[in-house]
Amino acid sequence: MLTGNELVDVSHGRGSATKEWLARAAGCVPRGVAVVNGVFAAEAKGAVVKDLDGNIYIDCFAGVGVLNGGHCPQPVVEAIQAQAALYLHTFFHQVPHRPYVALSEKLVKLAPGDFPKKAAFFNSGSEAIENAVKIARIATGRLAVICFTSAYHGRTQLTASLTCKVKPYKAGFGPTAPGTHRAATAYCYRCPWQSTHPGCGMHCLEQFKGFFKSEVEPTDVAAMVIEPVHGEGGIVVPPREFLPGLQAICREHGITFVADEVQTGFYRTGKPFAVSHSGVAPDLIACAKSIAAGLPLSGVVGRAEIMDAPAPGQLGGTFSGNPVACAAGAAALDFYEARDLGARAMEINQYVMGRLEQLQARLPGIGDIRALGAMIGVEFVKDPRTKEPDPDSVKRITRECFERGLIVLAAGTFDNVIRLLMPLVITDAQMAQAMDIFGQTCVKVMG
Ligand code: PMP
Repeated sequence: MLTGNELVDVSHGRGSATKEWLARAAGCVPRGVAVVNGVFAAEAKGAVVKDLDGNIYIDCFAGVGVLNGGHCPQPVVEAIQAQAALYLHTFFHQVPHRPYVALSEKLVKLAPGDFPKKAAFFNSGSEAIENAVKIARIATGRLAVICFTSAYHGRTQLTASLTCKVKPYKAGFGPTAPGTHRAATAYCYRCPWQSTHPGCGMHCLEQFKGFFKSEVEPTDVAAMVIEPVHGEGGIVVPPREFLPGLQAICREHGITFVADEVQTGFYRTGKPFAVSHSGVAPDLIACAKSIAAGLPLSGVVGRAEIMDAPAPGQLGGTFSGNPVACAAGAAALDFYEARDLGARAMEINQYVMGRLEQLQARLPGIGDIRALGAMIGVEFVKDPRTKEPDPDSVKRITRECFERGLIVLAAGTFDNVIRLLMPLVITDAQMAQAMDIFGQTCVKVMG
């Protein structure tokens, strides 16, 4: 059994077990469900994954941001076992259960905002966003939705429409949902106005004067949806004043301000929710991923009067707020707080950003490094002056890191960003080893 303190050991190579299961997967799983790396999981604990052949990897993408508390935190595993021994499913709308209510109470307390709040549960991040928009539409009696460049909100028809990246999320899947309007985000490294922050005049906020003339009437807009830090879009961290500025625009026009905290939530950025870094309390927050430490669960939490706008029966679903997932969620939130994962996220930031700065000084192909807490991105370019994206190096670095026992993930509209989203329970020794492997690989590929 893994303890979670192991370091990388890929001495076994890709043996027969992994090969066999990769071949079986190729035979029955459609290729659209891409397998990026060949780490076939046998066991996982903390920041460590062991594959079927006994190789040990450090997981610096945390199941795409789901495992802020690491693989299999013991109190969560125990809560799942205890709940599973009672009942697995009831359908909350007919046979309500305590885990749903208990988690709702916790989420309401954790979410920012000094006003009455309520929380409802769904199954995935996409569903949370879908429901946040539905709630905002009923609450405002309006239809339009504003989204942003670099955004990722999911793969359903509506959420793919709100998502910015064309391939692989939108191409060939038909028309986007009506009523969606895209504004430019505050991507300072690639500022569309070629300005430099600070002192830029925040064109990204000023754009709305024109946007509301040329794109959509503000009184037709139900919701503005934004990630406080764009995750899939390449760890795009806006300046502090961006979100408060957007909130002021929403308030002026009666638009529901929806924060997509699916990836940023639950201490990833150093606070329970990333919006708190800029003092914003959104009307609605969509959350998922780390909410239940690995079980499929998502939620929408926000102003009680907005959450109560849909009539009885207008929200929900068969599995929404599953009791085992909710029990896991309640235990996970307690675990994150007890382990002070917010403080740990800031320690990770300090260490990793220090290592990345040294690396950037050596490698001009590292165009930008960005982070909020332990949500960290490294943007690769062919030439730092032209900033031409370099997705090929990212592909080679992620592959080579994997061969050396480190799991990292590409991101960005141009596939030229590497995301580091290590579990916040990663040990210091694992973190040092992960950065050694990452640095050596970058130097090998780009030096
Ligand atoms: N919003 C954000 C910010 C996300 O990062 C994701 C998933 N990467 C989603 C929504 C969609 O979540 P899911 O994959 O659970 O539908």
